[in-house]
Amino acid sequence: MAGFLGVLSVLGLVVFLLWASGSPPGHTLAASGTVLPKASATYTATPTPTSTFPATPTPTPTSSPTATATPSPLPGLTRTRTASLTPSRTFTPSPTATPTATPTPLPTPDGSDRAHRVPILMYHYLSEPPEDADVYRLGLSTTPAEFESHLAFLRAEGYTSIDLYHLLDALTWGRPLPSRPIIITFDDGYRDNYDNAFPLLLEYGFTATFFVLTEPIDAGSERYLTWRQVEQMAAAGMGFEPHTKNHPDLRQKSKAFLVWEILGCAQTLEARLGRYPRFLAYPSGVYDDRVIEFLHEIHFWGAVTTRFGADHTWEGRFELRRVRISGGDDAAVLAAKLHWEPEPVPEGS
Ligand SMILES: [Zn+2]
Repeated sequence: MAGFLGVLSVLGLVVFLLWASGSPPGHTLAASGTVLPKASATYTATPTPTSTFPATPTPTPTSSPTATATPSPLPGLTRTRTASLTPSRTFTPSPTATPTATPTPLPTPDGSDRAHRVPILMYHYLSEPPEDADVYRLGLSTTPAEFESHLAFLRAEGYTSIDLYHLLDALTWGRPLPSRPIIITFDDGYRDNYDNAFPLLLEYGFTATFFVLTEPIDAGSERYLTWRQVEQMAAAGMGFEPHTKNHPDLRQKSKAFLVWEILGCAQTLEARLGRYPRFLAYPSGVYDDRVIEFLHEIHFWGAVTTRFGADHTWEGRFELRRVRISGGDDAAVLAAKLHWEPEPVPEGS
């Protein structure tokens, strides 16, 4: 039996060799028995592509760092989120809460602890207050003349306006800052911002970020900006970020409420301006851990408060302090405020 099998295999080998030697030159046998063109002959005939596209600098080196970076994009974010999670949290994922934002991750932190002093000025009304203005309205109203004196001072002192995206890049991966950076912000989105602040900003070569309430704009309220004005200002380089839809107190609110007020506001801005916003100004400067957690969920990158200060860190990006400008502040007061030290953080805040 074994001898018979041996004969068979020898015969098979002989048949194979005869068949293979009969194949035309320049061709080789494929496993299936079909004859394929010999690859080497085809490719060596055209050496030009190899010199144009050398085999050694393949795209693999450039693609591999990105690939390794993506699995752990946000060490800082992960730390913050786990730290702020409490057992009492009652968030339940709901289909309506799913943000339609493109989940573009925050620029990956490189592990360095950075702190930058960048005053974030906070304005509200930019007009002469009305005759019957109460103390609050007076405090929130900067006149055009005062504002112009501020801009003239800032320009003379060599300040350059940047935006919150630039600040975050600086904290995240060390994007260089100008020698005297400043961020100018306006809260609430009043009509006088367009009438009075916008022309002066253009004249003095500064940009500003406007935290707007989208409901009064949608409703066509005369006190607030129109969408046409918002679009015109955005086209001229001004930034627009959410201040919620209706300026509510965001503390102790349900997930659905935050979805409506914050995500709804953000998506309205995105629909109007074609860019999903990343920063919130907390209405009246109040918030709780739940709000910050929610901002992470909808891919926000930071938020500004009304607490006084100008020093910022990566860890503190959802509690950025600002420099409040009050009615009657002249350029000298502004100059003094730029050098004030921050107030101490109250216990439990
Ligand atoms: Zn406000």
